[in-house]
Amino acid sequence: MGRGFPVFFCLCNFAWDNVILGIVFGFLTERILMRARNFKNTSQAILILAILFNGQLFAQDSLITVKAERGDGILSLLRKQGVNPYDHYDDFIAMNMDNLRDSVHLYAGRNYRIPPVKIDTVPIVDSIQKKAAEIKKGVGKEYEIFGKKHSVVVSKSERLKEAVYYLISGHGGPDPGAMAIYGGKSIAEDEYAYDITLRLAKELLSHGATVYVIIRDPNDGIRDERVLKIDRDEVAYIGKKIPLNHVARLKQRVDIVNKLHKMNRGKFQRLIVTHVDSRSKGQNIDVFFYHHQKSKNGKKLAESIHATFGKKYKKYQPNRTYSGSFGDRGLYLVKNTHPAMAYIEIGNIRNKKDQKRILEPDNRQALAKWISEGVILDFESGEIGRIR
Ligand SMILES: [Zn+2]
Repeated sequence: MGRGFPVFFCLCNFAWDNVILGIVFGFLTERILMRARNFKNTSQAILILAILFNGQLFAQDSLITVKAERGDGILSLLRKQGVNPYDHYDDFIAMNMDNLRDSVHLYAGRNYRIPPVKIDTVPIVDSIQKKAAEIKKGVGKEYEIFGKKHSVVVSKSERLKEAVYYLISGHGGPDPGAMAIYGGKSIAEDEYAYDITLRLAKELLSHGATVYVIIRDPNDGIRDERVLKIDRDEVAYIGKKIPLNHVARLKQRVDIVNKLHKMNRGKFQRLIVTHVDSRSKGQNIDVFFYHHQKSKNGKKLAESIHATFGKKYKKYQPNRTYSGSFGDRGLYLVKNTHPAMAYIEIGNIRNKKDQKRILEPDNRQALAKWISEGVILDFESGEIGRIR
């Protein structure tokens, strides 16, 4: 009768939270099976078990098919199924290739196969969930800046262990950057650039990098909403008030970064600046990259991120042409900061097509992930010349 144990263990990937769940399920199984004599036969007891656990455990090994609703994207569809969309995006595409428009869009009303994966959360008694969450927290490190829900950074690798990154999100403080109206509400560039920057910071930290978030908001962490509330309380590293004057504002950032760059002399250092207000008009270009005209390492960084974006677009959106642009265009921050740097303009918040993409939190996460992959590519190809 104690056979319930091995069944549940073999379904788990030996993550501690699952081991605990396994023990609990094993225990419950045994209790129910022990009472099987009260039922007509054992299979009836197993049926009750299945109903009790809402089919969750048994679904792990069989393919789930889900109907896409209007407005669903691949990421949101996967997320609704409790599947980490970033780990299983490629699997999903491969499994549903014939059923996707432009190999990336879902058709509402059609059925899609969900990749079989370990399900992260199983609805069960509150205290067990809490215990599992505590254990999960123990694995990672907490950073308040990412907000309560996203504060824990779980280590994925040490690939960026020797690298230092300065991240600047465009505008902030008294300056909201480009503004637009969405669904009757005002939205501002600085909030979206900040959200993408925090997501990028989290990715880089998870690979062991040292990360300085230069423009910071004490109470906005990573936000999973479409409309991000506008505020003016961003400060510059650490706790410095952001000046209203345009040149003073940029100079403040330049000074902070150059000072830190000096402090970290001899280390591999890079600066990444993110904006959501591309200056291109009427062109079908999604992302622009700039670097210092004379910086070979800046060029390499920008090109590495550019190459990653190009690859992702090719993979997921083969019918869409993608292009980037290089050069420093006389940007103050590009010209005056000392570390090798890339300046990224992710679309334009006023452009309806770009807006749709930037407002979707899943897309902000994907953009941050792609940038981080480019950053890793850049680091692993090393410094051109001597590290300054
Ligand atoms: Zn901007």
